Amino acid sequence: MSLQHPPHHTVHVPLGERAYDIVIGPDAITSAGERLATMFPGARYGIVTDENVAAAQLPRLLKSLEGAGLSHAEIVLPAGEATKSWTHLQAAVDAILAARLERNDILIALGGGVIGDLAGFAAAIARRGMDFVQIPTSLLAQVDSSVGGKTGINSTHGKNLVGAFHQPRLVLADQQALDTLPARQFAAGYAEVVKYGLIDDEDFFFWLEANYAEIAAGGPARAEAIARACAAKARVVVEDEKETGIRALLNFGHTFGHALEKATGYSDRLLHGEGVAIGMVLAHRFSARLGLAPSQDAGRIEAHLKAAGLPTTLADIPGELPPTETLLDAIAQDKKVSRGALTFILTRGIGKAFIERGVDPQAVASFLEDMR
Ligand code: NAD
Repeated sequence: MSLQHPPHHTVHVPLGERAYDIVIGPDAITSAGERLATMFPGARYGIVTDENVAAAQLPRLLKSLEGAGLSHAEIVLPAGEATKSWTHLQAAVDAILAARLERNDILIALGGGVIGDLAGFAAAIARRGMDFVQIPTSLLAQVDSSVGGKTGINSTHGKNLVGAFHQPRLVLADQQALDTLPARQFAAGYAEVVKYGLIDDEDFFFWLEANYAEIAAGGPARAEAIARACAAKARVVVEDEKETGIRALLNFGHTFGHALEKATGYSDRLLHGEGVAIGMVLAHRFSARLGLAPSQDAGRIEAHLKAAGLPTTLADIPGELPPTETLLDAIAQDKKVSRGALTFILTRGIGKAFIERGVDPQAVASFLEDMR
């Protein structure tokens, strides 16, 4: 890029012929047209977005595409998790075909994880596979869902059960797009940023603690946090693209978190990232109880997550929780139970997470009982 552009970070995801760049910067959306025109000469574009993002961010993208003379169609879907459904997938694919987008054209996912997952899956199946570009506009999508190629929708049998691995050709993460994101959604995405520090990078966690105020305010520290989180995810994805081993570490805090999301009916009572925040504190406390991790780490993590506006205990969840037995059932369903033992991501301390396959369900049950 030429010097007139403000500083940006590029994280390369080296997946052979499916390799791509994640470009992070305050002008990632305003310079999208110029960048796409260079990368995909002659392509037309279909933009999939949701109603909130269409109001908040689409005008910037349209201005950029139009400035570069790129032809495009818009597909605006309702906002919310319920959009990751067969009905809206069909609507998106039909709209792609109605707009006469060809295989060499590009689908753009402009939105949070819901739009990224759905549009990515639509791109994977429309015309037997089209290229797509992720322009994530939530913090969660910028640091997690837009990287790694997992796409899909929900089924009546559960979340994310239908989908495909389909890597994007490019990811454009614009930290300024987060200025219109509701604060609660920003905090929920931030839990996933913290997660990368807790998994295997204690220096990153300490850096986050020291720089949180600037990250929340936007600007270079926010871009750096996004870039470091993307680099962490990219490293894991490259090692284990189809999640047969090490990629499971990315589920740190998610086993407890998913059980809590299920217990609260995947509702506004608990956003995914909020469940992850509580889950990460629980994973540390549980590891400490097993004598694996220093007990003071849990308190330190809890203090930072609280400062970022996140819930950290079961008592922070509004309303009644189901009995411990029900939570344990949800954990057992989420993580495969093999011969009566559970698989968990545990930790030996900040930045030292590991996969443990022999966790005793009774130990989890009595731990959860004590945490209530
Ligand atoms: P989301 O897409 O529902 O976005 C959250 C809310 O913020 C929505 O109301 C959206 O309209 C709004 N929004 C997004 N960007 C905005 C902006 N810049 N300004 C104003 N409003 C904005 O939810 P999410 O948290 O981004 O993503 C959650 C989804 O991601 C889940 O479906 C989850 O399964 C999926 N996910 C996928 C992966 C993966 O690897 N594919 C990983 C993690 C999560």
